[in-house]
Amino acid sequence: MLNYLLKPIQVFVSTTTRNSRCIASLSSLPDTYQMLYKTCRDFAEGELKPNAAKYDREHLYPGDAIKKMGELGLMAIAVPEEQGGAGLDYLAYAIALEEISRGCASAGVIMSVNNSLYLGPVQHWGTDKQKENFVTPFCSGESVGCFALSEPGNGSDAGAASTTAKDAGGKWILNGTKCWITNGYESKASVVFATTDKSLKHKGISAIIVPKPTKGLELGKKEDKLGIRGSSTCSLIFEDCEVPKENILGEPGFGFKIAMMTLDAGRIGIASQALGIAQASLDVAVEYASKRMAFGKPIMKLQSIQNKLADMALQLESARLLTWRAASLKDNKKPFTKEAAMAKLAASEAATFLSHQCIQILGGMGYVSDMPAERHYRDARITEIYEGTSEIQRLVIAGQIIKEYGV
Ligand SMILES: Cc1cc2nc3c(=O)[nH]c(=O)nc-3n(C[C@H](O)[C@H](O)[C@H](O)COP(=O)(O)OP(=O)(O)OC[C@H]3O[C@@H](n4cnc5c(N)ncnc54)[C@H](O)[C@@H]3O)c2cc1C
Repeated sequence: MLNYLLKPIQVFVSTTTRNSRCIASLSSLPDTYQMLYKTCRDFAEGELKPNAAKYDREHLYPGDAIKKMGELGLMAIAVPEEQGGAGLDYLAYAIALEEISRGCASAGVIMSVNNSLYLGPVQHWGTDKQKENFVTPFCSGESVGCFALSEPGNGSDAGAASTTAKDAGGKWILNGTKCWITNGYESKASVVFATTDKSLKHKGISAIIVPKPTKGLELGKKEDKLGIRGSSTCSLIFEDCEVPKENILGEPGFGFKIAMMTLDAGRIGIASQALGIAQASLDVAVEYASKRMAFGKPIMKLQSIQNKLADMALQLESARLLTWRAASLKDNKKPFTKEAAMAKLAASEAATFLSHQCIQILGGMGYVSDMPAERHYRDARITEIYEGTSEIQRLVIAGQIIKEYGV
């Protein structure tokens, strides 16, 4: 669908209109991005925003919305068209995911995991047969995939995985538990990271595609979460779970590399999800501040409220520039590990800050579920934890700086 050679993003012009958005420079991007933005915006306003509180309250998976997102091409944005995807790039993905998350952060994470954590590695490292079985059926929104790296004993320290996959001739036999797996309940397949050679430590980890259902794979309880409650999170428990030998992604021992490269790209997705939550918080705050009267005038006229709005917009737009830069670098096949970590760190902290300030601007109305501010506040928090905590992003950024300086 999109064959532009994207120019590096250089100039961003802020255009703020009432009830619109302060999106930097969409107008300087090719029409395809603007059309995609509009499609996602309309969909999020019409279908997600009106239902987001219900998904949250009832812990409801937004299955119908996900199917419609599949029809729009949003569940496989960067997968080539011949494999069933939209054939777009990561900048398109960032723009679309922000808008979807602005409407509903749960739909945002479901989309993000399917696009970057599941389809990303299978599409990149999969054989033709794997792509036929495990990419194409996951592009339409009918089926979603998941990514199983974390374990009860290790999250940030991903190389310490204790789940094993034993080579048993024509099959792998998996044993162990993966925890916190997004889309775990609904997924029809998972990329599972398991140790195939313990003596090699993290170089002995392999990535294996496990379809669901498969004998020997059970699900743990659905976690009761603070936010993103429309998405499922659960453990995957493997007990002598047998999968065909050909389900390995890449070579044995490539798993850790696959996981780290997948997370680099995934962080652009989580940054975009965070931007959507942050933008939604600004939308609510501006709308409320323009109507709420105090001391005979709308609170918007008070300088301390204006200062808050200025600080909110500053953090949001800075983080968006970082996110689009990381996406643009990836699209142009340039290194982007540091930039993706910076984008995720800045955008997730922006989401926390903006949703916090939004509640403050709404006063008591910010604290109750009649208004979406408290949901944005709860949804924002996870963006600083999954796909690498803020502490880990700082480690990644510092590691890259040390490398750049050669010290
Ligand atoms: C809702 C939700 C969805 C998730 N979805 C998925 C998923 O789909 N797939 C998946 O594989 N995982 C998923 N995760 C797991 C998530 O990625 C981990 O929770 C996260 O990486 C942190 O790991 P941990 O919880 O084990 O914390 P720990 O690693 O135990 O960290 C605890 C604290 O110590 C800090 N810390 C740890 N190591 C360092 C260090 N070296 N330097 C400084 N500070 C450090 C951390 O930053 C954190 O503050 C999900 C988690 C949640 C809550």
